[in-house]
Amino acid sequence: MANATSRIAADIDFDRQGRQSGYLRAPLSRNTSGWGIVEIPITVVKNGSGPTVLFTGGIHGDEYEGSIAVSELARTLDPAAVQGRVILMPAVNIPAVLNDTRLSPVDGRDMNRCFPGNAKGTFSEMLAHYLDAVILPMVDASVDLHTAGHSGDSIPSTNMHHIADPVGMARTLAAAEAFGAPYNVVFAGVDEGATLTSSVERRGILSLGTELGGWGRVNIEGVRVARRGLRRFLHFMEIVEAAPDDDDPKTRHMQVGDRACYAFAPSAGTFEPRNTVGQSVRAGDPAGFLHFVEDVDREPVEVAYQRDGILWMSAGPGRVARGDTVSVVMTDYSGGKV
Ligand SMILES: [Zn+2]
Repeated sequence: MANATSRIAADIDFDRQGRQSGYLRAPLSRNTSGWGIVEIPITVVKNGSGPTVLFTGGIHGDEYEGSIAVSELARTLDPAAVQGRVILMPAVNIPAVLNDTRLSPVDGRDMNRCFPGNAKGTFSEMLAHYLDAVILPMVDASVDLHTAGHSGDSIPSTNMHHIADPVGMARTLAAAEAFGAPYNVVFAGVDEGATLTSSVERRGILSLGTELGGWGRVNIEGVRVARRGLRRFLHFMEIVEAAPDDDDPKTRHMQVGDRACYAFAPSAGTFEPRNTVGQSVRAGDPAGFLHFVEDVDREPVEVAYQRDGILWMSAGPGRVARGDTVSVVMTDYSGGKV
């Protein structure tokens, strides 16, 4: 199915009943093939009438847990058990997924800084535009699955922004509880204007993000949380009747409200963290130490937390550059604007 506004074609019909799996075909002219394409996996499961949910993984190529869980659900979701439509894209930024990098090797772009995209732009911009202009108008709720990638680690969590409309805010908090990660973080991001989430929210669509691990490996707990969270989310949306039952503890609502929650490396060095994600930390305590192993007799530099709370994300252990985030602390959600 061609779309007038995009250069990307889909070989599936979003309105057809039943399960379809196939590819979006995105043009990519390259030295070896002027008329070459890139195939992006997509599965649509539709039955009857009901809301449409979009699950996306692999917007960043080195974040595995969401891709695994969305891919598994795409293979196993029974159309007969669905009332509505589920669009599953486990590896949106497929060039980056196959390259195991956050940024696309095709154009050097972070796709999650390209929204709302541009149909005639770079490959990542074209892909962002397709999601924004073609997919999102069909969608009632979106879960975009991420981790901290190679650059850090995160405790398995959902996340969301503050929503001015109190009904929308309450519904999103309830959706996060339904997903059932150990934590849900209401946050004001450092750089949020060009993310998929920002496009979703601009359209008034129910939106959740996740952070499910990192450090360039598959987080076992992150996969478990994602796997059961997606099915529970479908139950919350009344698309499936049965939800995985378990006795996991309830989701704890947290917030990351200001710059003091973040610690940045004051210079390049080897960062030795003092905590792992999920641990309680205190303002003034060391988040870690920057070591300068290339300089004899140079003392390490301490980087301190500025907030009491729980460590949401951590960088290292490893090399950091000046300005890299080395820790993000979350505090209990106040119930107010973040
Ligand atoms: Zn990501």
